Amino acid sequence: MSPGKRVAVVTGSNKGIGFAIVKELCQKFDGDVYLTSRDEDRGRAAVEELGKLGFQPQYHQLDVDDEASGLRFRDHLQSQYGGLDVLVNNAAIAFKNAAPEPFSQQATETLKTNFFSTLRFCNIMFPILRPHARVVNVSSSAGHLLKISGENSVAIDLRKKLCSSDLTTEELTEMIHGFVKAAQTGDHVKLGWPNSAYSTSKIGISALTRIQQRAFDHDSRQDIIVNSVHPGYVDTDMTSHKGPLTIEQGAVAPTWLALLPPNVDGPKGGYVWYDKQIVDWVNGPTPTVV
Ligand code: NDP
Repeated sequence: MSPGKRVAVVTGSNKGIGFAIVKELCQKFDGDVYLTSRDEDRGRAAVEELGKLGFQPQYHQLDVDDEASGLRFRDHLQSQYGGLDVLVNNAAIAFKNAAPEPFSQQATETLKTNFFSTLRFCNIMFPILRPHARVVNVSSSAGHLLKISGENSVAIDLRKKLCSSDLTTEELTEMIHGFVKAAQTGDHVKLGWPNSAYSTSKIGISALTRIQQRAFDHDSRQDIIVNSVHPGYVDTDMTSHKGPLTIEQGAVAPTWLALLPPNVDGPKGGYVWYDKQIVDWVNGPTPTVV
């Protein structure tokens, strides 16, 4: 047991951007860094790969879709460290453009992992965050509010609700359930939503980030900060290796946010671009997508 030792966690970090975030944290974070994966073999292989490069991350199994797995990990952190200092919510899925699964199924599965499971995992972990903790929610350029692009009253209403400064987690959850329900009958576009489950999941994550920061601002634990981030268009399995950025480049902004120094002015509850620009999530404009 290492009570008081600082500890950082990256979800879905056996490969891709999460793997590179673990690598950079191993270089820069003053404490233990957890590489986690839903599949233990893939995770252990990734730890071994980093070991060959001279890095020694810790390992724990974590499937964010499995509540029991999240609870086991929280109990481990609580008993070994007495808390948590950095949480990077990186794990996500994306169906390929040519995926054969019907949109209804894509919507159910994508929103489950990227939004609902991420939210549940936050709710499991947030009680053990220590003062000065940093949370990073990996969003996307597809998660900008203006990806709800319609000028009809339903789209305007969705945008207005999502950026409202008194939106609650319960209301947001209800709205995202509404998207999934509408997607079952193909009515989501009529209701103002984008025709993309992935985009909706990331809009949800960036909206959630703003709500979470408002709660932290009133938390008795001092100086807890959460931001969402577009890591850039990165060469990973998710993009079928079409992104121009390396995983190390994709890790730069998430790691920067994970290591924001104590009592920094900001960003807080922000939407941050891969080059560390703080982007106006409500009004845009969004910088060029890379
Ligand atoms: P990858 O597909 O390469 O990696 C995704 C990781 O998440 C894998 O380790 C995967 O595990 C894991 N994962 C998926 N589902 C779960 C789950 N239920 N529990 C735990 N882990 C899970 O994607 P990227 O590295 O490209 O993406 C990382 C993040 O960056 C994601 O949030 C993505 O949406 C975001 N992003 C990526 C962009 C890009 O250009 N690559 C652009 C914008 C945002 P397994 O190996 O078992 O599948």
